[in-house]
Amino acid sequence: MFGETLRALQAMEGRTQLSIPIEDDVEGYFDRECPSEECLFQFKILNQDWKDKVRDEEVFCPSCGHTATSEKWWTQQQIEHAQQAAVAHLSGELNNAVARDAAQWNSNQVKGSFISITMKVNQRPTQVLLPPAAAEPMRLKITCPACACHYAVIGAAFFCPSCGYNAADQQFTQTVAGIIQSLDALDAVRTAIVDRDTSENTVRLIVENSLQNAVTAFQRYAEALYATMPNANAARRNAFQNLSEGSGLWSAATGKSYNDILTSAELATLQCAFQQRHLLAHTQGIVDADYVQKSGDSRYQVGQRIVIREASVREAANLITILACGLLADASGMGAK
Ligand SMILES: [Zn+2]
Ligand SMILES: [Zn+2]
Repeated sequence: MFGETLRALQAMEGRTQLSIPIEDDVEGYFDRECPSEECLFQFKILNQDWKDKVRDEEVFCPSCGHTATSEKWWTQQQIEHAQQAAVAHLSGELNNAVARDAAQWNSNQVKGSFISITMKVNQRPTQVLLPPAAAEPMRLKITCPACACHYAVIGAAFFCPSCGYNAADQQFTQTVAGIIQSLDALDAVRTAIVDRDTSENTVRLIVENSLQNAVTAFQRYAEALYATMPNANAARRNAFQNLSEGSGLWSAATGKSYNDILTSAELATLQCAFQQRHLLAHTQGIVDADYVQKSGDSRYQVGQRIVIREASVREAANLITILACGLLADASGMGAK
């Protein structure tokens, strides 16, 4: 009674490839995901550019700069979709028992009507499912000034996926714009996600992620400017994640410190934001003695979890922009390239 099944199975034997099309969105973009375990950043790239511009040997993650060959960038959703499609295809050639298994298997899979974005909070990436209505206004479209590759991200990008180009000033401006865009979309997120807990949790992740992106954007920008300085001392990795250390380096190289650009009250606000980023990245937001001492934030005691408000992220993004403009003026004054 299994004759047909066996014949179908025999026909399938040795067949190792099945072509499953992955659909583009209406604008011709499709999803990619950074294969680095610590990153898993998701972005979109114009399919035509993926075919024409991106090289098989090397693709760059827009967020972390990780490089890998071009076949490593499937998103988890695309892999699941391919598995489902493969099962559906094969089950058509097999008997109903297999089809029932497949249906059972399929019913356990995440349905495809949501767009997933990866938010790197608390060191480990956190998957947040955003309905398209919420994800769309947060999407930042970027055209690489070096190779004209078109790609899109939510929040922040620092490298072109095709050529790895990092135009520090353009990336900084676009990243801050992306952060503001994400914050502007918070109401859309609240409306689009019906379940209140999920919605508030998602909003919290977006706000915290925005703060981390803002500090990273500043760090990358300051590093890039500093590297153009004629007699700059070697800077330790992540030195510009630390405001006073960065200011010290800057002052040694240019004669001007951050205090020449921001008031001490503004610097104190920014210092607090930078320390909060540190907590989000290293202690899952739990206040430690170091934070209490360095942030000047007396609202918390050791062991509490910080609450990041949308307004403070906007303020931090604004101060970071003023500081970055000031650094650019200093650098131009020094005749840096
Ligand atoms: Zn990455
Ligand atoms: Zn490029």
